[in-house]
Amino acid sequence: MPLIELREVRKSYGGEDGAAAVEVLRGISLSIHAGEFVALMGASGSGKSTLMHILGCLDRPGAGTYCYAGRDIAGFSADELAWLRREAFGFVFQGYHLIRTLDALRNVEVPAVYAGLPAQARAARAAQLLRRLGLGERLENRPSQLSGGQQQRVSIARALMNGGHVILADEPTGALDSKSGAEVMALLEELAGAGHTVILITHDRDVAARARRIVEIRDGRIIADTQPAQEPSAGGPSAAPRAASPAALPSSGEFAARMRAGVGRTASAWMDAREAVASAWRTLGVNRYRTLLTLLGIVIGVASVIVMLAIGMGTQARVIEKMALFGTNRMYVVPGGDNARGLGGTLSESDVALLRPVPNVAAAMPFLQGQVTLRAGNVDAAARVWSVTPDAPRILNWKPVRGVFFTWQDERDLATVLLLGKKVRERLFGKTDAVGRYVLVNNVPFQVIGELAEKGAVTGDSDDDDVVLMPFSTGSRRVLGQTHLSWISVLVDDLSKADATEKAITAQLQAAHHVKDFRIYNQAAAVQAQEDTQNTLTLMLGLIAAISLLVGGIGVMNIMLMTVKERTREIGIRMATGARQRDIQRQFLAEAVMVSLVGGCAGVVLGLAIGAALIFWNVPLIFSVRAILGAFGCALATGLIFGFMPARQAARLDPVVALASE
Ligand code: ADP
Ligand code: MG
Repeated sequence: MPLIELREVRKSYGGEDGAAAVEVLRGISLSIHAGEFVALMGASGSGKSTLMHILGCLDRPGAGTYCYAGRDIAGFSADELAWLRREAFGFVFQGYHLIRTLDALRNVEVPAVYAGLPAQARAARAAQLLRRLGLGERLENRPSQLSGGQQQRVSIARALMNGGHVILADEPTGALDSKSGAEVMALLEELAGAGHTVILITHDRDVAARARRIVEIRDGRIIADTQPAQEPSAGGPSAAPRAASPAALPSSGEFAARMRAGVGRTASAWMDAREAVASAWRTLGVNRYRTLLTLLGIVIGVASVIVMLAIGMGTQARVIEKMALFGTNRMYVVPGGDNARGLGGTLSESDVALLRPVPNVAAAMPFLQGQVTLRAGNVDAAARVWSVTPDAPRILNWKPVRGVFFTWQDERDLATVLLLGKKVRERLFGKTDAVGRYVLVNNVPFQVIGELAEKGAVTGDSDDDDVVLMPFSTGSRRVLGQTHLSWISVLVDDLSKADATEKAITAQLQAAHHVKDFRIYNQAAAVQAQEDTQNTLTLMLGLIAAISLLVGGIGVMNIMLMTVKERTREIGIRMATGARQRDIQRQFLAEAVMVSLVGGCAGVVLGLAIGAALIFWNVPLIFSVRAILGAFGCALATGLIFGFMPARQAARLDPVVALASE
């Protein structure tokens, strides 16, 4: 059985869009046995390369059949053809077709990568092959650092990497000077002598004459198939066993089993991934400048997500913190109806007593505000006075820094004691400590028993420190002469039940007053509203950041699409050496993911650095692990999503089309 058998193979180009189809191969029938050394000879344009692409399974015949080892390849899938290419064929092209970003050693390794050979064995074999071809000193040179003859020898080494049962050489000497050409021809002859099936394509009769069989092609037809008289070569007996190669032909069952194993090769998924990562790293390194620019997009995206969310959460926390100072779990019962024309009601101390037993009320305090004249020594000052109860430190969240607060006993006794706000103390006593001193309040002497902590420092309003606090009984009866309250302050235990408590208070007071002549200000509800606005703000910041991340993703897609375009030929080369579609896809996806991964990491670092700088400038920031992980995850997803399309596009390229691209 012949190794390769073509029957009435035809191939045409064009024919779409109304253009006339050009038939390039017009019924080629050809059998080649294992171990043959055949030259396909014909003028330029006669269809030799087209035929070679079909022989090498880079392209399928338009009509007719191609059997390899007795099996019709018409039924083979793209991946099965890829397996056949790496299993059976080694290509040597006129233009060498080396991958320019890889050094000689790695170029030779490529077919073995797709065959799944472990890295060490691969490197060893590639180095050995290169040494055998006289390139031992050139392992680490890139194609651009090698002469044409050297590049062609590298490509021959590559063709042999997976065994190279069938060497397909398309004008291998076409681009070489005569000396290098002669060397390459000698190599091919040697390979033919060693049992490889060599199919040499040439337009040169002298080159063709080196083969043992010459098939002449003109205008897509075979016009001659001759076997020049075999001159008894120096090797004498070595010529005979060469034909014994049919033993190399696998049985059909064995062939099928090997194909199945080869096509579905997944055992080394981890190695494949490592391979893809390493190769991605190399190619990204070669296009350093462009990679950096793309990275920048991702880095900015990730960093801005992190910083913006941190700012959003930071300001929110600061606002809530500030509101907590005023008291989030406070309610105020204010006299007067729901509008200006409503009932003008009053609140008295007895109303406070009504509220104390209401469930969830921790404390209720009468509050009476008034204006007084103070005198200490010869200093006069006008100030506000707050008449409150000993619950005030708790309810107002305001404690003395010096001295003590007054007691319930003082409240019952209408004691003439007071506490000074910081500003009042400064106006009356300057820098000196006022505790224990006496102050005239509307000409009644009061003892200063304490000074309150500076409130303006936290609330931002220095007027808050311009007040005097005294017992409610004293203030209302002795100083202001008024028993109607400014309002009642209520402290609730459980903020989440604030609404129910508000209702209970309303019911209680309404039952006593018979009308609703009061209003309740519920801070808890206000805090809720504030939190909602803050959440909206944070969401908006996050959205802006997400958009920048999206832009970064589009950058990745852009670079990947460009890369695919630019590296189409490399993709073709990889396919010719046996890469499956999924190998190509994995490689391009790995590059996209790597850009995103590196960009994501750098973005996190940059985001944290910017955050640290902002904290230094006193901007409220809260970093959340969730935001950081989220941003990083988004970057990764971006790479996957935006890298997927170009990767698929690359994988779906037709090997011949890819190879032909420049
Ligand atoms: P050879 O290798 O013998 O010089 P080719 O096989 O490369 O010839 O080409 C044979 C003919 O097919 C030429 O006329 C060429 O223009 C045409 N041809 C080759 N490839 C394509 C293609 N992809 N699309 C259209 N025409 C093509
Ligand atoms: Mg050609």
